[in-house]
Amino acid sequence: MIDYQHTLKTSISVHGTGLHTGQKGSITFVPAPINHGIKFKRIDLPGQPIVNASVDNVIDTSRGTTIAENNAIVFTMEHVLAALTGLCVDNVLIELDMDEIPIRDGSSKYFVEAIEQAGIIQQIAERNYLVIDKEIVFRDEDKGVELKIIPCDTFKIDVKIDYGTEVLNVQYAQLHDLKDFKQEISPCRTFVFLHELEFLLKNNLIKGGDLSNAIVFVNRKVGQEELDRLADLFNKPKVVVKEEGILNNLDLHFVNEPARHKLLDVIGDLTLVGLPIKGHVTATKPGHYSNTEFAKLIKQQMKNL
Ligand SMILES: [Zn+2]
Repeated sequence: MIDYQHTLKTSISVHGTGLHTGQKGSITFVPAPINHGIKFKRIDLPGQPIVNASVDNVIDTSRGTTIAENNAIVFTMEHVLAALTGLCVDNVLIELDMDEIPIRDGSSKYFVEAIEQAGIIQQIAERNYLVIDKEIVFRDEDKGVELKIIPCDTFKIDVKIDYGTEVLNVQYAQLHDLKDFKQEISPCRTFVFLHELEFLLKNNLIKGGDLSNAIVFVNRKVGQEELDRLADLFNKPKVVVKEEGILNNLDLHFVNEPARHKLLDVIGDLTLVGLPIKGHVTATKPGHYSNTEFAKLIKQQMKNL
């Protein structure tokens, strides 16, 4: 059976706020010809520069994955790339009018909905895959991080996270068929620990944050006074810590939603390899740095064949 390339039937926009920059704006998915791949276009900048969704363009992985090319930057693009890979869209131009992709609820759900609303169409060209034919491993022994890929007829991912805290310990997630991405993975939201959140707030690093776009884990004792301060910051009437150790801004979609979100991030970051992958990924304690280093390694080793 031949797999064909796919693009969108029509253009569609998603509006929102960038989590880190606080900028408000929109992205528009625009249909693109065969072999175009995924590219961003900064329509707000002079000359409307293009930024290729390539691992060669990664410039920062500290709070989300950031790419830059032609003097243009795109912050936090992993959730939108995960949505495209999860729905098997090969060719699309993503126009954006700010530095960052809107965070929405911190998952890929809104991008998936928009792409499906626009419609996905088959193109008259065969899909090129990056077929893994040997084991490739990235390891950071100090941090206990390992990402490995082995040959497989399809794209599969197994993830293990371990934060070693009472509220968020060992969790697993898996995706063995991309058909399950929409239901099982795409609604899974990003998460943060309360102490990180406070650091980010203090240093003005999450300007567009509110308590609706992240699961907040509380891994130490915290007084009501502090919670009231958070409630003020986030414009909520009251914030409390729920039994599961998370703030009451939201309910978990799945018990292992954090592990599923990390899986979503792996899909998004590996999209930067530039081709759909046939291989089985096993990721232990993945993060944006290790994901993108792993993507570079895969791209490099496959080039050397
Ligand atoms: Zn993420």
